[in-house]
Amino acid sequence: MDLSHRFNQNINKIAVSEIRQFDQEVSKIPNIIKLTLGEPDFNTPEEVKAAGIAAIADNQSHYTGMSGLLPLRQAVSEFMKEKYNLSYNPDNEILVTVGATEAISASLLSILVEGDKVLIPAPNYPGYEPIITLAGGEVTTIDTTPNNFILTPETLEQSLIDGGESVKAIILNYPSNPTGVTYSREQIKEFAEVLKKYEVFVISDEIYSELNYTGEEHVSIAEFIPEQTIVINGLSKSHAMTGWRIGFILATEAITAQLIKTHQYLVTAATTNAQFAAIEALTAGKNDAYPMKVEYIKRRDYIVEKMTALDFEIIKPDGAFYIFAKIPAGYEQNSFKFLLDFAQKKQVAFIPGSAFGKLGEGYVRLSYAASMETIETAMSRLKEYMEENK
Ligand code: PLP
Repeated sequence: MDLSHRFNQNINKIAVSEIRQFDQEVSKIPNIIKLTLGEPDFNTPEEVKAAGIAAIADNQSHYTGMSGLLPLRQAVSEFMKEKYNLSYNPDNEILVTVGATEAISASLLSILVEGDKVLIPAPNYPGYEPIITLAGGEVTTIDTTPNNFILTPETLEQSLIDGGESVKAIILNYPSNPTGVTYSREQIKEFAEVLKKYEVFVISDEIYSELNYTGEEHVSIAEFIPEQTIVINGLSKSHAMTGWRIGFILATEAITAQLIKTHQYLVTAATTNAQFAAIEALTAGKNDAYPMKVEYIKRRDYIVEKMTALDFEIIKPDGAFYIFAKIPAGYEQNSFKFLLDFAQKKQVAFIPGSAFGKLGEGYVRLSYAASMETIETAMSRLKEYMEENK
């Protein structure tokens, strides 16, 4: 029996991830060096691991309440207050999720119905669109390429006007994957001034908030417009905890009360022993991102210097751990083809910019969540490739 027509037909509109496709291609190449992954190369801090192990030994193997352990929500609340001046009540304004990924899915699925539009400044993280599509919604991208990937209040407002009533939400992601762009207090305030005039949710994916290299503190848009903002954060990037799958949603009591319904039926609750580890990360380990940040800055500076010398155009990233570089003129501009050829000839893989939407075509993204030694090898092979293929 062929049941293909009995699926939610929106699923047919979801394209296979280009990151996955490219990864499959390059994984066939022996001894390939990959600067592809969006995950820290560091290990989870020792005290955090110890807390997870202790929780297992202590038989913490039962469901937690659906919003997560109260001591963890308290730790999230205190961390967010201290770091970003946000005030969220642990009792009813914080949800512990299965990574930022589930936080994003639960938020979008709670908001969207068929025909709704979601604005996304692009190039953008490819994890949002499939869920929007599944819910029957549509993405409207805001092109940031004319302005060095920086969203302006003017383009934001114009997109809200053009999109009209069917715009239900905007997704902000800063520091950004893939561009590394982040925003100052002044810029965030200007966005908030625009957004508060419209009845739209602001899903603010701040998963890289602890990796801001500007010397200023990360500023959450929730500081200015909490009543329409859903803050997404988590421990994957800040504490090198991608595999533990711990994320957070912070929102007003009214919004949280709706999101918890979706969250509850998607996952019941986040993994219990990982939640215990997360408490340690946000308390004793609250500054664990600092030493990693110092390393990332060194690597970023090194790559920017090397690639700029090879005529790649780079807007120096102010956060996260990615370089988004324009392929120099005179070389193959199809990023998939360019990088496949480079990988086949030099055994080094980056991600094609086209994986981050049409506006990413002509760019490559590399992750510097890799050792300096690996990065040095990758850069010297890139130099050889560019010289040999001029
Ligand atoms: N949001 C962005 C912008 C990301 O880059 C990633 C992971 O790469 C995620 C969310 C997913 O994070 P998590 O591992 O916490 O689900």
